[in-house]
This record gives sequence, C-alpha cells and structure tokens, in this order.
Amino acid sequence: MSDDETIFEKIVAGEIPARSVYETDAVFAFLDANPLAPGHTLVVPKEAYERVGEMPADVASDVFAAVHRLTPKVEDAVDADAVTVGVNDGKAAGQEVPHVHVHLVPRFEGDGGGPIHAVAG
Ligand code: 5GP
Repeated sequence: MSDDETIFEKIVAGEIPARSVYETDAVFAFLDANPLAPGHTLVVPKEAYERVGEMPADVASDVFAAVHRLTPKVEDAVDADAVTVGVNDGKAAGQEVPHVHVHLVPRFEGDGGGPIHAVAG
C-alpha cells in the first residue's frame, strides 16, 4: 500500500470500511459517509483514475453500466422521486477525492436542492 493511495482505493481494497451497495470485477459502489440524502451512493472504478477522461473507455463503460443498473434501485430503495447523477471532475468542479466517483443522490419532491445546472447559475 503506497502512502498516496486515495481513501477510495483503501475502501476498494477493504482497508477501511464502507457500506457496500454493489460490486463487479471493475466497479465498487458504496454509501457516502456524509450523505446529501438517505441512500446517497458513490460508484467508483476499482482501478484508480483521478479524472473521467483518464479512464480507458472500457472502464468508463463499466462504471456507467453500474450507474445505469443502480440508479433506479437506489431511487426505489429509499422511495425517492428522482436521482441526481453527477461527477465533480476536477478540483475546480469541487472534486475532493482524486479518484473518479459518480454520485447517485436520491431526490424528493420539495427537498429544496437545486438541479445540477444551478451551480452555473
Ligand atoms: P467529491 O466532493 O470529491 O465529489 O465527493 C467526495 C465524496 O466522498 C463526499 O460526498 C464525501 O462525503 C465522500 N467521502 C469522503 N470520504 C469518505 C469515506 O471515507 N467513506 C465514504 N463512504 N465516503 C467518503
């Protein structure tokens, strides 16, 4: 284990605990430790890539296949009305953990959160 491993590499390796939601050979999904809503899930490639554009196409495809599969399941699991699916890709976009992760944030009618494009408004 190198010292510059990200927290998500440690989670993937089982070195620190996380609430697992889904796993394939290439992808791990787990509950966010500081959820924006109940069921807030993170989907990460098991291999460490900092930015979306750094992932090989097959890894990006595996990540999105997991997002495709999990989004309706996460919505149903917490009886939400919708899901915000988003990636903070790069520091200036708010990325805090330098390991690609897709947020699945369950949304509820009247929850007061804005749409993702509100950040540009
Ligand atoms: P970012 O701002 O990089 O898009 O999102 C990072 C996310 O990772 C945040 O929502 C934060 O709550 C979550 N997070 C940070 N550290 C941990 C951790 O150790 N475990 C889990 N499950 N989530 C974490």
